[in-house]
Amino acid sequence: MSIKLGSSELAKYPFLQEASDYIHETKFDFEEFDRPEMIHIINRAVEKLENELKGKVYSNLDEYEIEIMTFMVSLLLIKSIGLEEVSKKCSLFEAMRVEKFLTSDLSNERSVEKKRLLVQKIFFELFKISIDVNSTSSICKLSVPDYLQRASKMNEQEWKLINRSVKDGYVYLDTDETVRLIRNELSNLIYSRIKNMKVIEIPVSIKSRADELRDKYAGRYVYRNQFKILEYPPCIKHAMEIINKGENLPHSARFMLATYMLAIGKTIEDVIDIFRNSPDYNEKVTRYQVEHLAGKKGSHTKYSVPSCDRLRSEDLCFAIKECENLINPIQFGRRKIT
Ligand code: SF4
Repeated sequence: MSIKLGSSELAKYPFLQEASDYIHETKFDFEEFDRPEMIHIINRAVEKLENELKGKVYSNLDEYEIEIMTFMVSLLLIKSIGLEEVSKKCSLFEAMRVEKFLTSDLSNERSVEKKRLLVQKIFFELFKISIDVNSTSSICKLSVPDYLQRASKMNEQEWKLINRSVKDGYVYLDTDETVRLIRNELSNLIYSRIKNMKVIEIPVSIKSRADELRDKYAGRYVYRNQFKILEYPPCIKHAMEIINKGENLPHSARFMLATYMLAIGKTIEDVIDIFRNSPDYNEKVTRYQVEHLAGKKGSHTKYSVPSCDRLRSEDLCFAIKECENLINPIQFGRRKIT
């Protein structure tokens, strides 16, 4: 007798073949996303994506039809945004969402057949890892080669084989550790789904939301390989002129200049060089500050370029006609690389 995944599993694991089969069976067409009743799904996918871009796992769980559709819209949004960093970050946080559900299912599910089915569907069918789950505890075992192939990419000491329970060629792990082992593979799987999606035309209702998200988060993500900056915006030109004259630049202008340069793909060394002419230049302090803004130090948060609204309120805006309708300086003078 073959045991099938239930609707609650399809809701949590919408990347499985069964979820694609569901879409196929319902003969759903992408154009249907432009129907007014689909707005709820699109809003939900936008909310999920924004959570992920802010570094949070989206934990809300709805019925399987809604989850499968939300997953599909999320992939279309990411595809349409077209930024490598967004694709990678959302894939990672989608994988972490799966990790959360899978850990809970493998720990709390009472039916060992159900547990084994999940392991079969996710670990074996997707990643070719054989795992044996215990019927009475939350301990899993997997072969040493399968373990080493994943654990060798982890830096923490706890993943070293010497620190694990090993017997008869098997490594014994808690379910959360077992699931953690495949986070990268899950993330890569979702990333490759986005990359390989062949969509002739993204539905208008999704494309317009993707355009809004791209503009909203434009300052946070590097445009390297995506856009060519043909000209710096007036606010940046003005700050550069002051620096080049050897005059002092206020802290808010330094922040704007450094975040802008990092966002358009300048290296940390390039940005440090820009500040060399400042009257109070100190390489050590400047390096620390630039690395901090680039997310390499401290909280490891990459800082965004301030919005035009904020720069106006700080008297750092020197708008010209071409600035009309801009939300962020990063949008000025750019051309998409085709
Ligand atoms: S409108 Fe924006 S881009 Fe233009 S000068 Fe002002 S802050 Fe800079």
